[in-house]
Amino acid sequence: MAFDSLTEKLQNIFKNLKSKGRLTEADVKEALKEIKRALLAADVNFKIVKDFVKKVEERAIGQDVMTGLNPGQMVIKIVNEELVDLMGAETTEIKFEPGSAITVIMMAGLQGAGKTTTTAKLAGKFKLKGKKPLLVACDVYRPAAIKQLQVNGEKQGVDVFSMGENHKPWDIAKASIEYAKKNGNNLVILDTAGRLHIDEDMMDELIKIKDEVSVHQTILVIDAMTGQDAVNVAKEFNDKIGIDGVIVTKLDGDTRGGAALSVKAVTGKPILYVGMGEKLSDLEQFYPDRMASRILG
Ligand code: GDP
Repeated sequence: MAFDSLTEKLQNIFKNLKSKGRLTEADVKEALKEIKRALLAADVNFKIVKDFVKKVEERAIGQDVMTGLNPGQMVIKIVNEELVDLMGAETTEIKFEPGSAITVIMMAGLQGAGKTTTTAKLAGKFKLKGKKPLLVACDVYRPAAIKQLQVNGEKQGVDVFSMGENHKPWDIAKASIEYAKKNGNNLVILDTAGRLHIDEDMMDELIKIKDEVSVHQTILVIDAMTGQDAVNVAKEFNDKIGIDGVIVTKLDGDTRGGAALSVKAVTGKPILYVGMGEKLSDLEQFYPDRMASRILG
């Protein structure tokens, strides 16, 4: 389960704190050192860990904790609040165009991150909310990806648009908007091609799609299991093509949690959803406060 090892470590640190009636400054400093170690072991970005611990320290060594009736609880409360803040404080919803206007979402990410699966998961979520999604197969390099989108779209009972492998992705995207207009789809989700690593061609292709159709939201899919690599990928995508939000997949298999904890602070872009399994229903809206509670156990 996500964050298991971090949760266990934090619980031990907090148990120790709570067992002391009064806390000295040295007690708090020692606990903070352990929290720092636990976050680093969870693969949270180094600079973020430093800033995080500094913030907690400033608040904990101040009046609040030292004069509080239950200093241990107070430290835990501060850590909780700062974790929520780190992950973006508020829940961010995907914004739709008003009225019957078509909303276009472009999905981006490295190959294997879970982009195609997540595209179908999202379509199912929005269908339940009354949208009529159209999934668009813009990955022209892997026939298997087109097939996968078709199979998953069918499972979700949503329309899938494909032109095979012999067209440019931006032409497919453009044609899909025309199709959506005729077919009454008010949500178009473009499933773009990923590569094993970031490369110029991939970025250029995404930029070209954005030039050719008006994309309202660009959502990056990253794999939690790849830790800080995923965060670096997010930074690079955001710098190069501009993203609006992130979906962190495979959190169900990630015991460390570093990517989910770092990505908002590094990119400035919120986590919108998290993938919690392979099933098409395994996509959860991201609530920073609930995630913090989950981490603290
Ligand atoms: P793409 O290359 O980015 O389109 O990746 P896919 O959608 O094909 O997903 C790659 C693999 O990751 C597949 O086996 C998916 O079932 C799996 N996957 C995707 N999201 C999740 C998730 O949230 N949890 C788990 N455990 N597996 C996932």
